[in-house]
Amino acid sequence: MNKFDVIVVGMGPTALLAAAACAERGLSVVVISPAPDQRWNQRYADFTSEINDTPLEASVLASWPAVEFVSASGAVAHLSEAYSLIDTARLASDLRSRAERAGVQVKRGVVRGADPRSAGGMTVYGDGLSVDGAVVIDATGFQPALVKRPAPTAYQTALGWRIETPGAPYNPGAMRFMDLRDAGAPPTFLYAMPHADGTWFVEETSLVATNAPNFDALADRLRARLERDGVVVTRVLETERCRIPMDTPIPDLDQPVVGFGAAGSMIHPSTGYLVTRAARTAPKVADAIVAGLAAGAPRAATRDAWRAIWPVGGRITRTLQQFGARALLSMPADELSTFFERFFALPPDRWRTWMRADADPADVAATMWTLFGTLDLHTRWQVVRATAPNRPSANEPVPQ
Ligand SMILES: Cc1cc2nc3c(=O)[nH]c(=O)nc-3n(C[C@H](O)[C@H](O)[C@H](O)COP(=O)(O)OP(=O)(O)OC[C@H]3O[C@@H](n4cnc5c(N)ncnc54)[C@H](O)[C@@H]3O)c2cc1C
Repeated sequence: MNKFDVIVVGMGPTALLAAAACAERGLSVVVISPAPDQRWNQRYADFTSEINDTPLEASVLASWPAVEFVSASGAVAHLSEAYSLIDTARLASDLRSRAERAGVQVKRGVVRGADPRSAGGMTVYGDGLSVDGAVVIDATGFQPALVKRPAPTAYQTALGWRIETPGAPYNPGAMRFMDLRDAGAPPTFLYAMPHADGTWFVEETSLVATNAPNFDALADRLRARLERDGVVVTRVLETERCRIPMDTPIPDLDQPVVGFGAAGSMIHPSTGYLVTRAARTAPKVADAIVAGLAAGAPRAATRDAWRAIWPVGGRITRTLQQFGARALLSMPADELSTFFERFFALPPDRWRTWMRADADPADVAATMWTLFGTLDLHTRWQVVRATAPNRPSANEPVPQ
């Protein structure tokens, strides 16, 4: 007899979203974490329309009515799509309270492994820990404790500071989403958020690269950029360091532990967004587990939970988005700028579809096709070269 219907390993945002969704459907759920009260350090943000109608909505700290894209030449595109920043401490507290209200139990421990039980279900074990459950969800982040998958090779890196600065260094009425002036090699861009208290969050980001700059290099670039823009930094109040594996393949969906969140490779392969997708997907995973367990089949529940995360359409979307990410990997700064100029000139529905990791594959394909049609011959060639299975060498001339 399994002690729990569901064991969730990890206690980050995606673990709590999955745990609460299962418990709210009447399943007995335990969450295992080495430090259940640990402070979360990331700043989570996304387009407001992605956050709305999810459990993240109540934790929004600040919103901006528009985002700006600044090309390498300094041309500013003002995009009327609202963007929101989540209050991380509030999110942690909201998600923990929701899980507690739903009856989720919490166990302290570091999970080291999981073995199938002959009676069905799994035993999860760690130092002094042994818990039986019908279904196990691994939500332990980028280096999963239990889920098996190939190692990533491409990363997003970013170094951000919340700064005190006199005046407003950039447009205080918008969130500067991507500023590609002085992008360097490999290219990095500025992401800047004004806050209501007059402070600014400024971050230097390498979107996706196999040779992503390290934090010292990003800090040097950010410092030089702020100096060039005449931004006086009176004080650095917080520092954020971000290193996200971007090309994690979809794991084998027949393995006996379900991967959720970063552990389930759910990160968008060219933007790094995850939490809104996890919020939308958690109820689907919970429904699949409820149905499987009602039929008395823990293994089927596990298999169907994997497929709720990665349905056929989702796997096609992922393939298309990985194709796009590979194109970005190879682009020098000027091409990246041209690429994004064309991208943000698309109708907002189109470019926002691309940024949604679980978008409909037909919509993603339509966006890619439309974008490809707007690119000049040189950039099209670069895209084809970067994504072709038998890649032409970088020295081969562009066909005329
Ligand atoms: C700096 C930064 C900023 C980001 N910003 C955004 C953003 O703005 N928007 C967005 O959508 N995404 C963002 N992401 C990407 C992604 O949303 C986050 O990484 C997110 O925290 C991943 O959530 P998770 O629950 O999958 O994993 P994590 O948040 O990494 O949580 C993993 C949990 O597992 C626990 N754990 C690990 N190993 C074990 C073990 N062996 N046994 C038991 N427990 C274990 C950890 O203690 C932790 O509780 C950001 C990532 C980073 C690094």
